[in-house]
Amino acid sequence: MAAKIISGRELADQVCGELRERVERLQEKGFTPGLAMVRVGEDPASVSYVRQKEKTAGKVGIYSETIVFPEDIPEETLLAKIDELNRDPRFHGILVQLPLPKHIDAGKVIEAIDPRKDVDCFHPVNVGKLLIGDPYLLPCTPHGVQQILLRSGHSPEGKHVVICGRSNINGKPLFAILIQKKAGANATVTVCHSRTPDLAHFTRQADILVVAMGSPRAITADMVREGAVVIDVGVNRIPDATKKSGFRLVGDTDFDALVELVEAITPVPGGVGPMTVAMLMWNTVTAAEIQTGLVS
Ligand code: NAP
Repeated sequence: MAAKIISGRELADQVCGELRERVERLQEKGFTPGLAMVRVGEDPASVSYVRQKEKTAGKVGIYSETIVFPEDIPEETLLAKIDELNRDPRFHGILVQLPLPKHIDAGKVIEAIDPRKDVDCFHPVNVGKLLIGDPYLLPCTPHGVQQILLRSGHSPEGKHVVICGRSNINGKPLFAILIQKKAGANATVTVCHSRTPDLAHFTRQADILVVAMGSPRAITADMVREGAVVIDVGVNRIPDATKKSGFRLVGDTDFDALVELVEAITPVPGGVGPMTVAMLMWNTVTAAEIQTGLVS
């Protein structure tokens, strides 16, 4: 059975089309959604992620500004900038690109963002609201995974979803989204991690397998049930002498082997990545609608 490769790029274009219409409605009322991004240092992956977000914001009609600080910026300077952005009415969303240099306390920086402008949904207030089933916004990558499942006709409702990875940005919030007693959720969720003995025992039981381990091609064909749906969140750089950059991107699954076996699978690149960016735009537009009183 040939598997269906789910194009995250196509789904992200669909979402961005819907968002453009919402932006037009905001503009008719005299508002333009605004996103402020803060980047510290020149980490190549962060530079590339922020550039992608700027490009997509422009496509959707969101006004965006990126503030770049040198690697050795004092923590207080960064906190002062966030305080300024919190009070700047042009911006409905604020994003601080992670990771931050070691001398800066990332937790303190996240907590400094006004929860209403926290479009990454990393602020403890928003994490708590998500867990109790009363979210302000949904965190971008896990929301992207949920939207991929729903928009590709693989609703998680009533399914056994196995998540590999328990990070605060991926595994834990995805659990919190899919476990809710709500349409588009209602899944039975198992979360695995590096201390899970016999990972394959669990992954083979998945109707839907979501992998967010940061471990290149770790999920092999023998670990997946025939007919499962696989969402690969991993983005790993592996050496490739044929590329100008000297590397290429692979996911956490052995895509070429799994594609023969599964019902559907997301590729890397072109799967979860573009949907993560689209969900950031979704959150910025939603935050603007709420802050301008267009929706409650
Ligand atoms: P992370 O913070 O390093 O967490 C990795 C998780 O995987 C941890 O919970 C770890 O377990 C678990 N794990 C690692 N090796 C394992 C193994 N062999 N067996 C079982 N569990 C294992 O990583 P992250 O920030 O969540 O990111 C994960 C991947 O997603 C990375 O490749 C990252 O680049 C990618 N990512 C992609 C997007 C996107 O938009 N596509 C967004 C964010 C991240 P412990 O908790 O026990 O250590």
